[in-house]
Amino acid sequence: MSDACCTPSPLAHSHVGDNVKKAGTNIDPAHHAKSKPTGAVADLLVVGTISTGNPASPTAEAMAVSGGQIIALGKLSDVENLAGASTTVLKPEGIVIPGLIEPHMHIWTSLLNLSWTDVSHDECPTFDSVVERIKETAAKTPDGQYVLGKLFDPALYPGEPDLTRVILDQVSPNNPVMVMNASQHYLYANSLALAAAGVDDNTQDPAGGHFGRADGKLNGVIGEAGAIMMVAGSLPRPTQQETAAGILEILNMCASQGVTSVREAVTGAIVGVPEVAMLHQLNGAKRLPTRVSTAQFSIMAGKSSAETAATWKQAGVTPFSGDEMVRADAWKVVTDGSNQGRSGYFSQPYLGEDTGGHANWTPDGMRDVLKAGLDDGWQVMCHVNGDAAVEFALSTLEGLLPTYGKNDLRHRFEHCSVTTDDHLERMAAAGVSPSFLMNHVYYWGAAFRDTILGTERANLLDRVSTAYKVGLRPSLHSDYNVSKVHPLQSARTAVLRQMQANGEVLNPAECATPEEALAAITTNAAWQIHADDRGSLEVGKRADFAVVDIDPWTSAADGWDEIKVRETYIDGSLAYQS
Ligand SMILES: [Zn+2]
Repeated sequence: MSDACCTPSPLAHSHVGDNVKKAGTNIDPAHHAKSKPTGAVADLLVVGTISTGNPASPTAEAMAVSGGQIIALGKLSDVENLAGASTTVLKPEGIVIPGLIEPHMHIWTSLLNLSWTDVSHDECPTFDSVVERIKETAAKTPDGQYVLGKLFDPALYPGEPDLTRVILDQVSPNNPVMVMNASQHYLYANSLALAAAGVDDNTQDPAGGHFGRADGKLNGVIGEAGAIMMVAGSLPRPTQQETAAGILEILNMCASQGVTSVREAVTGAIVGVPEVAMLHQLNGAKRLPTRVSTAQFSIMAGKSSAETAATWKQAGVTPFSGDEMVRADAWKVVTDGSNQGRSGYFSQPYLGEDTGGHANWTPDGMRDVLKAGLDDGWQVMCHVNGDAAVEFALSTLEGLLPTYGKNDLRHRFEHCSVTTDDHLERMAAAGVSPSFLMNHVYYWGAAFRDTILGTERANLLDRVSTAYKVGLRPSLHSDYNVSKVHPLQSARTAVLRQMQANGEVLNPAECATPEEALAAITTNAAWQIHADDRGSLEVGKRADFAVVDIDPWTSAADGWDEIKVRETYIDGSLAYQS
């Protein structure tokens, strides 16, 4: 589906960028710094069924918290003596589990179409249901106002027609309609939307874009940024308050899935440093619903890799700068595109094509961009989808890393979708751990196997089991808004490897154990975002937890996606309530 996660469109620049820029470059942390545990007396005592996520001591009856830190955990009789007159006692209705960690999601690139109608395959399993959803939305929208759809993914509706102007005119005769392809490389518009943008049958294709035509007339299928901007560039823009509210809405949505920490996986791709500044400012006004770890983007327009790194550094955005709520942790490099968008970089051609895509960088460029981050002491967070991209990034890192000596930066490969045994073994040797977009198997597994990659390569998708076997600590992520933030569903898929399209299992040899899958959304993910004080409930760690109706550690993986999250807590104080 989407490589939108890492290539924000010009539309995102024009619709979100100006508001974010107003945040300026003041990146002063909000000083929600961790308060010191007072020691003897707990300020919070949590009593109930506690599932710690720590295999050495998996359950507890009570947890004492002071200054946001767990100071005791165990039997109620052993812990309750830490309570005093001033201690708040919390008896949650449900099971207390560690706050989940979402190690790769996107705030900024998800803001553009946050309020648009979701016509993803998950919401609309057939092409007809996509059309029906647009019709329903139009019927509820006052005449003349825009009907906007997002995440339409034609790769998942093989044999169906394009979403043309004729179809959209039929279901929305009185409202302009625009639907964005999940890849953001295509936009679909009806006649009213084209007319509102001043585009007609006589309009020439702009540089860097094209208008689909049938018999010389526009068919409403608009390709690439140059043309998309001509049509969508005129959409009403959000206010600064709406942009701020959108950020909070996204983080609150994460919290609603039990998440207490996220990694924003491409910070600065739209307007640079102000993205970090805005997060700090929002957190200063009111503590954010989740902690945010940022991955600084390695590309700024008109700058070399070294100059981009210098720009971050000069602004004060250095490794582990910030505070306990918003912290800069990584250097983001994007090696290739997306496999479902057929822009991932493979050593063999895509099915039905004669190429396997290409890398975004020349060998020298790749070396320079990785080196720029490593020189400044960043954890490298490197997007690699196809097997050739994995090989390219890995061999480049193998050449570079020895010159930096031993360290604990925990470099990461993102998606790391199609890997060989050799890749995974070499990653373990080099100290590069994978974060898998597990929904690749659930939502796109069948499309990968049957129409995009073939069985052999599809079987090499998201190899959680082998990653563990070679000594790696994999995590799972959503790449929101590429897929929904729902760590327990991702963990379920890591165990079952069931494909949504047909319920079949994609390569059972790669099924993770339940413990491995849950570690991948808790302790491993925390380790990958350098949050060693989170991911499990143990003495000395932060009191970041969720309250759920069913304990995933003691229930079958098949039901994990149905688990309800009632509350989340950060440092022992309420962050989200359903
Ligand atoms: Zn991403």
